[in-house]
Amino acid sequence: MLVVMQAHATAEDIRRVCDKIEALGYRAHSIPGAERTAIGITGNKGEVEPGTLEEMPGVQEVIKVTKPYKLVSRDMKEENTVISFPGTDATFGGPGLAVVAGPCAIESREQAFSIAERVERAGAQFFRGGAYKPRTSPYSFQGLGEEALKIMAEVRQHFGLKIVTEAIDHESLELVAEYADVIQIGARNMQNFSLLKKAGRTRKPVLLKRGMSATLEEFLMAAEYVMSEGNYQVILCERGVRTFADHTRNTLDLSLIPAVQRLSHLPILVDPSHGTGKREYVPPMALAGLAAGADGLLIEVHPDPDRAMSDGAQSLSFAGFEKLLESLKKLAGPLERQLN
Ligand code: PEP
Ligand code: MN
Repeated sequence: MLVVMQAHATAEDIRRVCDKIEALGYRAHSIPGAERTAIGITGNKGEVEPGTLEEMPGVQEVIKVTKPYKLVSRDMKEENTVISFPGTDATFGGPGLAVVAGPCAIESREQAFSIAERVERAGAQFFRGGAYKPRTSPYSFQGLGEEALKIMAEVRQHFGLKIVTEAIDHESLELVAEYADVIQIGARNMQNFSLLKKAGRTRKPVLLKRGMSATLEEFLMAAEYVMSEGNYQVILCERGVRTFADHTRNTLDLSLIPAVQRLSHLPILVDPSHGTGKREYVPPMALAGLAAGADGLLIEVHPDPDRAMSDGAQSLSFAGFEKLLESLKKLAGPLERQLN
């Protein structure tokens, strides 16, 4: 159920409706929009009796939400969610294209600083580096852990870039929430429901990657898990799904972008690095992502891609990244988008 408040409803009206919902034993999620506030009700097993709420001051109407996802839905919030970072012009979901760039894994302080310097200069607002890596093989490099988080905290301090990094389990999530600006939940954990709920109890934005074989509905339900815990700052990311095609690592499903935007108010990024697995395919698919309406891009960059400790084959060199950003800038204008 969804309680739509009148445009002139007061803060007191909204508070009273939330209190009433909580008194009925449910959870109230008050989400302000440009014109009006909507209050989502979760935790109800069956239908909520609308009568008790409909008569309250400031209430316009009580709507039944028939879709399984509620808080992520455009029914709840008509306009796009914009996630911003005070003190910077970096946003997810605004007219500007968010550029998230960095190495798959932080390998050393020198490596991280050299990349941060170049991606910042080229126009990225977010630095993304892996501290905890979910690797297919237990013998592959697993990441530097907390040491990498400390290096990224220094990167933020030095370059003003916002930090995005992945949490792979409950333990790493606590540390990531402490150090990072955005918590990434990777494809392999998209349906790790206890991890999603834990991320939902933090107050840091969550970048949620699509599972390798997740349908649109499963993806939105994963975001709903985070939001149901009261964290409404969720950024979705298309990173390719597994298909029979073997010319790329994954099949980048750009049609997900308009499909998500029709159903949800949440921002959506495209990750052409994991989406293709091949460095030469990253620029064309990044441009295609912008053209398809993505709110941002996630790009892996390495000073010496062929010697990277993980995902070198899909990492751009500095020159490759700079060239890509020049092309994105040219394409942004005609699409009425902005790039720093
Ligand atoms: C990553 O972003 O480095 C990563 C492991 O991505 P994914 O979860 O999409 O495979
Ligand atoms: Mn990677």
